[in-house]
Amino acid sequence: MRKVKILTVISLLMFIFDIQAQTLPKTTNLSAKSFQILNIMDDFWKYWEKGEKADIPTRTKLFREMVINPHKEIYEGFVNIDDEDLAGYVKDVVPLIPRMRKITQKLDKELPEAVANFKKTFPKFSWGGTAVFMPNYGTTDSGGGTINGKHYQIFGVDTIAIQYGENANLAVLFSHELFHLYHGQFHSEFNGKNREKGEIPLYLMVWNEGLATYISQRLNPKASIEEIFLGQKVQTEVAPKLPKLSQSILENFDNGSPQIWKPFLSASKTSNEIPPRSGYYVGYKIAEELGKKMSLQKLSELKGADLQKKMKKILQKLTGV
Ligand SMILES: [Zn+2]
Repeated sequence: MRKVKILTVISLLMFIFDIQAQTLPKTTNLSAKSFQILNIMDDFWKYWEKGEKADIPTRTKLFREMVINPHKEIYEGFVNIDDEDLAGYVKDVVPLIPRMRKITQKLDKELPEAVANFKKTFPKFSWGGTAVFMPNYGTTDSGGGTINGKHYQIFGVDTIAIQYGENANLAVLFSHELFHLYHGQFHSEFNGKNREKGEIPLYLMVWNEGLATYISQRLNPKASIEEIFLGQKVQTEVAPKLPKLSQSILENFDNGSPQIWKPFLSASKTSNEIPPRSGYYVGYKIAEELGKKMSLQKLSELKGADLQKKMKKILQKLTGV
């Protein structure tokens, strides 16, 4: 139970950070060179070397001293944890170690590769933040946020290990997240808005996630559909419900209420009718349809009444009536 509680609380926090990520000044005109990588996993492995055979209280102390304290600002900003929960974590993480090691080995190489690949399609991509690889206690595979004016995109290596396994297709995950950062360069719709407070209409969330998913597929054409949807069982669980889901999104198009958007966008199951993250799939189908006639750059610039009109038309078609 303890673990579930932490996950819920921290997931909520991440939603807030997610929104803050969209409120960055759009005029960030930094070159790609200023994009930095902070690999906290280096400290994690030093901790593991020292603490592997130690008892739980010693491991808890070592983790705090060697992993959290040197990166206090990031941990306090994103994933605060007390000693009791940390003691549980240092015990629970042990079976994940081999998978985390494999993923760590791929990270350093694959993020720069994904950025290079991304810039071939989107040469205007420019982001001056820091990508952080870290253990984050199962909070999120990836999330963005601003702490003291500095922008971070964090990747939870332990969470990636849990959600996708050691053969995680990191290129897909990176493309998806890079696209969110890029998309933010063109859109002020989210500025100062909070989806937890119901300030962002459903259609925009469906579009943002669907488009990021579609772009990651176009940039990684060899990836499987499950990899593109980050492990979600779309073929069997979501695709058969497409007409009903489209109808429901159409009916709640402008509604920003968390009760409405959560079943469509959350990773956890909140409804019997709506599979988790099925909004990603509907948004993807819309982007796929529009992508037949528009360039990826044009798709990323769509907004306002034009976007709404186009989305409504395709949603109507997807309802099958
Ligand atoms: Zn996303």
